[in-house]
Amino acid sequence: MNEKNEYGTMICPTDKVEMEKKTFSMEGFKVRGWRCKKCGEEAFHGKDAEIYLLYKKLQNQPAKAKVGVLGKSTVLRIKKEIAQTLGLEKGDDINIRIEPPRKVVIEVPE
Ligand SMILES: [Zn+2]
Repeated sequence: MNEKNEYGTMICPTDKVEMEKKTFSMEGFKVRGWRCKKCGEEAFHGKDAEIYLLYKKLQNQPAKAKVGVLGKSTVLRIKKEIAQTLGLEKGDDINIRIEPPRKVVIEVPE
């Protein structure tokens, strides 16, 4: 996740000065971007903004997941878009808890 803090520079289209890097919090969702110290102009990182829009689209939208078996484990396959918006990668640890009677809550740590 270190690479998340390394991204290019942005020049303010108005002032022609390098903008300051800033992480915006959109309802708790982090979007990288830049802010101009002179005029206050803000710009969002294209890929982050794209993932944020996808996140908004998928929010509160029920999605089917497929149950599978891998060795002795039961695996749950979720849509690629959901994994992408949550930044899930192979090997990541997530927390799962059961809410009675038949609800499963999956939490992705920051
Ligand atoms: Zn500016």
